[in-house]
Amino acid sequence: MFSEVLEKYDWDEITARIAAKTYRDVERALAKATPDLDDFMALVSPAAAPYLEQMAQLSRRYTQQRFGKTISMYIPMYITNSCTNSCVYCGFNRHNKFPRVILTPEQIEAECKAIRRLGPFENLLIVTGENPRAAGTDYLETALRVCRPYFNNLTIEVMPLSEEDYHRLTLSGLNGVVCFQETYHRERYKVYHPAGMKSNFEWRVNGYDRMGAAGVHKIGMGVLIGLEDWRTDVTMMALHLMYLRKKYWRTRYSVNFPRMRPSESGFQPNVVMTDRELAQLTFAFRIFDHDVDISMSTRETPLFRNNMVALGATSMSAGSKTEPGGYETYPQALEQFAVSDERTPAQVEADIRARGYEVVWKDWDKIFD
Ligand code: SF4
Repeated sequence: MFSEVLEKYDWDEITARIAAKTYRDVERALAKATPDLDDFMALVSPAAAPYLEQMAQLSRRYTQQRFGKTISMYIPMYITNSCTNSCVYCGFNRHNKFPRVILTPEQIEAECKAIRRLGPFENLLIVTGENPRAAGTDYLETALRVCRPYFNNLTIEVMPLSEEDYHRLTLSGLNGVVCFQETYHRERYKVYHPAGMKSNFEWRVNGYDRMGAAGVHKIGMGVLIGLEDWRTDVTMMALHLMYLRKKYWRTRYSVNFPRMRPSESGFQPNVVMTDRELAQLTFAFRIFDHDVDISMSTRETPLFRNNMVALGATSMSAGSKTEPGGYETYPQALEQFAVSDERTPAQVEADIRARGYEVVWKDWDKIFD
């Protein structure tokens, strides 16, 4: 399990190693065809900041070699904001008093139809809070069965499940699982996640092993930027990705670097990542792993997302609502966080095409399940 691997890495030591990287380390990393973790640390270090243009060109080249000039589209569908956890940075935190919603199968179907009217989406990301009793595996299985006729690719972003439950859901149409570790800092993790299932660091960090063992086709990873030193957190994530690739080599992987957005929680980020730093991180990940899908959500602004089309990103959401039932049933419900990009899917598509890139709505067929 990855938690055992992680124990061999000391947070403070990794932070110090990144801070000590020099221009020479960065140039060595840029010259390598297959950079290792030490090189990745150089690429995300402050020493790499003056090399942004060079990193962007490399990132563009590797992305085009592997993915062509394409951006794959997806859309999230929140089906419940019911949650038994207390993540201090989240508007759905159980201490935040507001009406909780768990969509019925009929309401989920109405959301599916509303999304199909928004654009030709085939990649659906089903998102829930974490309430195993009221919206557990049975509920997820029902949701997948309802959504299946409308979309060819179904991914869930839900509480970590057991290997048996992941496997069971793959039989109901599940193609991918996204789970954000939030932070790999074991001690600080407890401060941000003081209660509920999510307070169990091991259960969460080993969830990716369970996904891999269950044969989930695609695994999405991420850390929440705004909690701890982002350079150390993403280095731990790169280590995690290397581990998973080796052990579950049939699985595809995606990464996401969500920057904290304003929410009802009122939590203020501990660290702020600039656009320049997010660009550096995106390029560093592409140079480190040429095959990984890099996803950019509507947390980021239209300007930033447009610039990333040709420089490393490979999938984007559009038209997103972050409240359950937001497309049709409860358009006024509380959103999990505020989005930055409010363009319609058609506007996002037009902007991608204007850069000479093709928009891919469908890259999987349910016949492959
Ligand atoms: S981040 Fe997820 S688990 Fe935590 S309070 Fe929000 S919805 Fe619940």
